[in-house]
Amino acid sequence: MSRTCDVVVAGGSIAGLAFASEAAKLGLSVLVAEEHLEVGEPEKCDGLVSLRGLRRYGYPPGAEVVQDRIDCAVLHSPSGKRFTVNADGLDVVVLDRSAYDKQVAAAAEAAGASIMTGRRVGEVTETGDSVTVKAGDEEVQAKFLVDATGPASSPKHGILPAAKYEVEGEWIREHVVEVFLDARKYPGFFAWVIPFGEHRAKVGAAGRGVSPFRALDGFLEGRSTTVLRKVAAPIYIGGPAQRFVRGRRIYVGESAGQVKPTTAGGIMTSIAGAAAAARWVSSSIHEGRPSLPAGYQKEWEGDFMKEMKAMLRLRGVFEKLSNQDLEGVFSVLAASKLAQKLSKTDFDFHATALLGALGVPGLLRIAGLVASAEVRSLLLER
Ligand SMILES: Cc1cc2nc3c(=O)[nH]c(=O)nc-3n(C[C@H](O)[C@H](O)[C@H](O)COP(=O)(O)OP(=O)(O)OC[C@H]3O[C@@H](n4cnc5c(N)ncnc54)[C@H](O)[C@@H]3O)c2cc1C
Repeated sequence: MSRTCDVVVAGGSIAGLAFASEAAKLGLSVLVAEEHLEVGEPEKCDGLVSLRGLRRYGYPPGAEVVQDRIDCAVLHSPSGKRFTVNADGLDVVVLDRSAYDKQVAAAAEAAGASIMTGRRVGEVTETGDSVTVKAGDEEVQAKFLVDATGPASSPKHGILPAAKYEVEGEWIREHVVEVFLDARKYPGFFAWVIPFGEHRAKVGAAGRGVSPFRALDGFLEGRSTTVLRKVAAPIYIGGPAQRFVRGRRIYVGESAGQVKPTTAGGIMTSIAGAAAAARWVSSSIHEGRPSLPAGYQKEWEGDFMKEMKAMLRLRGVFEKLSNQDLEGVFSVLAASKLAQKLSKTDFDFHATALLGALGVPGLLRIAGLVASAEVRSLLLER
């Protein structure tokens, strides 16, 4: 069997679905091929997002999709020092990510897009003015292929294996996100607890060169816990890809590296990428100008590149910190008015917010504790 459409989308998760929804609204015929049998499954993501970010791009979640509202975030040092940020005003929620994807899929279908599940995109052949895509046993001809296959296509250097469990336990604090830093247990990343109801949480761990499952089991030792579900999933922390558009292939979401390198959060930034790509692809098709989609990269970078660069620099510093350094940094954080300042910023732009709130005095204090070229480079840029 073979059919034709304007755009075929490989991957029916948040980026692919948001692209399909936006492109269909702009009058394009769009076909999404998702390899799994059900949109949103298997669920990997924890769904921590700011409503502000989702509203900005036109995809606020329905009330039934929101599992929890976050009041505060607590960072723990290796020795147990705490740094707490009040998140009351930040509009941060935890989504049932599977249900959210289904909500966006319904919006895409209502706009006229077709979604085929259980169809893996395989061979792709590019000819002069079209692409031919094998989706399951069907051949689809389109003007463009949108690659929204997530970590399957994202730059390999940025991938870190992670373990995630859904758990129940009396120790879980409702409305409180907790992050545990320890350079020995979770080198280059952390363990996290994201509540999603009374005494329920999505907990996870990742770190360079460690087994994430061993790290997470170690974290749960001594915390009386019932494990409801276990997931192995790679997270992406490598920063945006060099090129979002290659010929008639357009990369959106995680496959374009549109993910925060500090936290690996990518829901909002992927939707933003998908929406921008849909506008540029639509103009390209309507105006008959095949090179136009490349403009989408500039638009996304205009919105996010400053923040992404700040996040990559913070990551550069963070990856070099020993546990002793981390203790020192926690003392600097506690001594400044940082928590108060951060509670009034934007969750999605936390790196520039953090650097701005620390200012030169804070960075100088950290530079005094941590002799690293990365901290010096942060200072030189201020
Ligand atoms: C453990 C974990 C926790 C996370 N927590 C958060 C969080 O709290 N907040 C946040 O903002 N982000 C979080 N993220 C990141 C977020 O999930 C991703 O950035 C986001 O889902 C990226 O969306 P995407 O559509 O680009 O890719 P993905 O969600 O990875 O989707 C890719 C889709 O493509 C499909 N696919 C792959 N290959 C093919 C193929 N050949 N043919 C057809 N279909 C294919 C896959 O089945 C999948 O449905 C988390 C990620 C992980 C792994």
